[in-house]
Amino acid sequence: MQPCHDLHLHTSLSACCQLNDRTPASVIALAESMGVSTIGFADHIWANPGISPSEWYRPQNEEQISRLRSQLAEVSTPLRVLVGCEADMIAPGKFGIVPEFARTLDYVLLSCSHFHMKEFVAQPPTDAPSDLARQMLDFFRSGVASGLATSIAHPLFPFGSRDKFAQAISSISDAELEDAFGLASEHGTALEITPVFIPPEIDPPFSIDTPVRFLSIARNMGCKFTFGTDAHDPAGQRRLPELAMVADMAGIHDEDVLNISSR
Ligand SMILES: [Zn+2]
Ligand SMILES: [Zn+2]
Repeated sequence: MQPCHDLHLHTSLSACCQLNDRTPASVIALAESMGVSTIGFADHIWANPGISPSEWYRPQNEEQISRLRSQLAEVSTPLRVLVGCEADMIAPGKFGIVPEFARTLDYVLLSCSHFHMKEFVAQPPTDAPSDLARQMLDFFRSGVASGLATSIAHPLFPFGSRDKFAQAISSISDAELEDAFGLASEHGTALEITPVFIPPEIDPPFSIDTPVRFLSIARNMGCKFTFGTDAHDPAGQRRLPELAMVADMAGIHDEDVLNISSR
C-alpha cells in the first residue's frame, strides 16, 4: 500500500521547528513533488484556557490556527490541504484542547505520550518500564475516549524514554492491548503510523516487532489508521513512503486507513 496522506506536518509555527523557511507554501510544494494528494498541518497547540500551559506551550495558543490560515490563504495548490493540530494532555482527563475549539479544525491529533516534558506531563511513579507502560495505557485510554482526538499521534511511543519502548510494550499483555484498542475502535479514534516506529539502523533501541505487535492487534480490533511523518523539516517529510513498510508488516490495508473528510 502507499500512504495516501500525511496528516502530521509541522511548520515554523511550532516552537521545536528549527527552520524559519518551513512555511505552509514550502511544505505544500514538497508534497506536490512527492505526489501526495492530501496533507494536514498539525502544529503544536495549547487551546484550553482551563489548564495553564507550560512556558513552552504558552506562545503556541489558539492563534496558531489563524496564523496558519492566513499563510495558507497565500498559497494555491491542487492538493487537499487540511487544517489540524497536535494537541496534548498532561494527565488522564486533562487535555490541552477543548471540544469547542477542536470543532473549528478539520482534525485533531492528540499526543498521549509526551513524557519528555517532565515538569508538565504526569510522570510514572518509578523508572520501571512496566510503570511507564501503565502510565501510557492510562493516558491512551483517556485520550481515545475523550471525543477530542481524530487520531492518536505516535501511539504508545514514550517520548523521552525511547530505550524503554520495547520493554514497556512487552510488559502489556495482548488482552490489555485488545481492551485499549477496542476502546479506540468503539470511539472511532484512529491511530497514527509514524516514522518513530522504524528503529534507527545504528544501535537500534527496539525492534520493528514492538510496534508491529500492537498495530496488528489494533487492526484486528477494528481500529482505523492515519499516516503522519511528524516532519519538522523536508528530510522528515520525505520519509512518508517508509510508513508503507510498517503498515504492510502489521497487515494494515487501504480499507483500514481513516477516510478523513475536511470540516
Ligand atoms: Zn508529538
Ligand atoms: Zn508532532
